[in-house]
Amino acid sequence: MVPSRPWNLGATPSLRALWRVGRARERELGMARPAPAPASPAARPFPHTGPGRLRTGRGRDTLVGVDEDSSTRVAARPGLAQCRALSVEWADPGSPRKLYLTVQVENLKEKLISQTQEVSRLQSELGGTDLEKHRDLLMVENERLKQELRRCEAELQELRTQPPAAPCLGCEHVQESTQLRDKVSQLQLEVAENKGMLSELNLEVQQKTDRLAEVELRLKDCLAEKAQEEERLSRRLRNSHETIASLRAQSPPVKYVIKTVEVDSSKTKQALNESQARNQHLQEQVAMQRQVLKEMEQQLESSNQLTSQLRSQISMYEAELERAHGQMLEEMQSMEEDKNRAIEEAFARAQVEMKAVHENLAGVRTNLLTLQPALRTLTSDYNGLKRQVRSFPLLLQEALQSVKAEIGQAIEEVNTNNQELLRKYRRELQLRKKCHNELVRLKGNIRVIARVRPITKEDGEGPEAANVVTFDPDDDAIIYLLHKGKPVSFELDKVFSPLASQQDVFQEVQALITSCIDGFNVCIFAYGQTGAGKTYTMEGTLENPGINQQALQLLFSEVQEKASDWEYTITVSVTEIYNEVLRDLLGTEPQEKLEIRLCPDGSGQLYVPGLTEFRVQSVDDINKVFEFGHNNRTTEFTNMNEHSSRSHALLIVTVRGRDCSTGLRTTGKLNLVDLAGSERVGKSGAEGSRLREAQHINKSLSALGDVIAALRSRQGHVPFRNSKLTYLLQDSLSGDSKTLMVVQVSPVEKNSSETLYSLRFAERVRSVELGPGSRRTELGSWSSQEHLELEPACQIPQPTARAHSAPGSGTSSRPGSIRRKLQSSA
Ligand code: ADP
Ligand code: MG
Repeated sequence: MVPSRPWNLGATPSLRALWRVGRARERELGMARPAPAPASPAARPFPHTGPGRLRTGRGRDTLVGVDEDSSTRVAARPGLAQCRALSVEWADPGSPRKLYLTVQVENLKEKLISQTQEVSRLQSELGGTDLEKHRDLLMVENERLKQELRRCEAELQELRTQPPAAPCLGCEHVQESTQLRDKVSQLQLEVAENKGMLSELNLEVQQKTDRLAEVELRLKDCLAEKAQEEERLSRRLRNSHETIASLRAQSPPVKYVIKTVEVDSSKTKQALNESQARNQHLQEQVAMQRQVLKEMEQQLESSNQLTSQLRSQISMYEAELERAHGQMLEEMQSMEEDKNRAIEEAFARAQVEMKAVHENLAGVRTNLLTLQPALRTLTSDYNGLKRQVRSFPLLLQEALQSVKAEIGQAIEEVNTNNQELLRKYRRELQLRKKCHNELVRLKGNIRVIARVRPITKEDGEGPEAANVVTFDPDDDAIIYLLHKGKPVSFELDKVFSPLASQQDVFQEVQALITSCIDGFNVCIFAYGQTGAGKTYTMEGTLENPGINQQALQLLFSEVQEKASDWEYTITVSVTEIYNEVLRDLLGTEPQEKLEIRLCPDGSGQLYVPGLTEFRVQSVDDINKVFEFGHNNRTTEFTNMNEHSSRSHALLIVTVRGRDCSTGLRTTGKLNLVDLAGSERVGKSGAEGSRLREAQHINKSLSALGDVIAALRSRQGHVPFRNSKLTYLLQDSLSGDSKTLMVVQVSPVEKNSSETLYSLRFAERVRSVELGPGSRRTELGSWSSQEHLELEPACQIPQPTARAHSAPGSGTSSRPGSIRRKLQSSA
């Protein structure tokens, strides 16, 4: 702790200088020893010449006698005249005696002041200004040293915690140790400096203590002097009293003098009292000064204690420093050892590596020797390549030019070839169409096939369910029916036994379907009594799809195949004709009646306004469309099975194509018709709606027969308008159109009459194929009544087609028979 400073030390000069000044001043003021009264007033110095100080020559002269000791005073006691003069002098307010006393008091005051100043000066000197400064400095220095020490310790700690010296990389430790060494030596230097400073300070403290003792001595002298002065003054006062008493006893003049003296004496008494009071005050001040001095001594004591504490701290720091230094040295030693070890290891490793490198070098040298010839060849190769590279752009340009010319030529050739191919393709297309037409002409535009369904559970058992249909194993166009115990044979274009699959049947019709892609209109009818298998053949089941679905699938695949040259769109419509009313089964209002109209463009084409067409692109689409149509049909009629057998169901597929290269457009229509049941109800006495249904069905089927007959006999007028069915299918039945009729046959005995009727109808349709003249003569007219009135059970006609077969060729295949028919007709 820094002791508080009781006085201002700011402007204190150096201790020695102050000491010197102090001594000079003491000498000046005559303070060195108890000063005897000066020999002459002139010899008394008056260093302090403040205002109000009396320095008259007279005063000084008078004071000479007064200042002398008592013996001198007795000798110099004035006579009466002198006394008178003296009393006059004393009666005067400015009498020399009074002046003398005043001056004495003033002097004493001055002395006291100067003493006080001196004491405070000394106090300020001793007050440890420099000491405190030094102490502060030392404390600061100590603090710094402490910090330094802490830092050193921390570094040492760090060094200790560091892993054992790795191979001495960059010699960091060496640098660190040198730095630490430098620091230690610096710290030692600082400690030595501090020691020197401390000893100096000690010296100064010693000196100051001496001076303090001196000052104390002088203060004692001063006090003794003052006591003497007081005594002297009181003695003189007593003398004065005695003189006054002796003078009172004298004569009146003397009394007068006495009175004067008394008056004077009272004044003197007053002055004396004042002096005593002042003296009292001075004594108090001296006591105070003593107190201050005591405090100063105490401070000095504490300063000394502090110094000793600082000394002990310094010695402690030194010890700590010593210890740290020792530790550091140890650390450095261990680091040095680690370093040396690492260096040795590194050296050993380096030696091993060096050896390996030498060995490698030897290997490389030998390699180099062997590689040199290779290098030479490589260099020559490289040079050759360089030459080639240099000449490459030229060669490349030449090659490019020739290639360009070749490519141009090739492109020209390809273009000409393409033109040629295109021409050939078109010619082939025409040829194909011609051939197709010819083939169809040879096969017949209208073909009739029969399909016999297998016997099912629904047919029941017993003689009624007995099979009455047999086939010719050598001719797939012949079918035999056992009707009422008699066999009847029929020849059609093809007969499918119950064993034939859906695919087998489709095989037969697929040529027609593909012709649709080429722009032909095609009609496929399923004809036969209810339950004979019409719907099975046309729609089929989920597992065994019929002609409808297979046809669309075939169309998709064909279209896909031609996709590089042709663009096709396939749309479908599903309609129904019931009681001569046409309905759109894909429309939003299936109960609505549709009308068939002529195109207003005058082309003679027919169209059905409001008929819905769905574009289909996949089997999924077809299934959705069929399902939609089927649902519409179901919601419309409660007894679906009955209804479906009383109405014609039509699936109309339109294939529109565009030849990408020629821009040629084609439109083909495929009409797949599941006809109403052909069973006759006329004789059974049906009435009401059932009779009306029967009449409508009979009418439409007869109309179909009429149209086909007219077409085959190439009559000028074809009665398409006789029924909705033929009118709707007019486009698809006339011209280049192709028609296939699948006559469905039930094989059981109970249906043999209807089977006979269906087969006769089929045979008649087919027989029309022969030239118009012959056909007309042979068949006569095909009246609508015939369909109803024909009585199959009464007559077993000779199969017409068979009649036209070549003689003795009952087992011959159908195309052959057609050719022969053509030859014979010719
Ligand atoms: P239609 O439509 O002529 O009234 P269906 O097609 O409904 O006759 O056929 C009647 C029944 O005979 C159906 O149960 C059907 O599955 C079955 N059927 C028809 N033809 C065949 C066939 N070729 N193979 C197997 N079952 C058939
Ligand atoms: Mg059916």
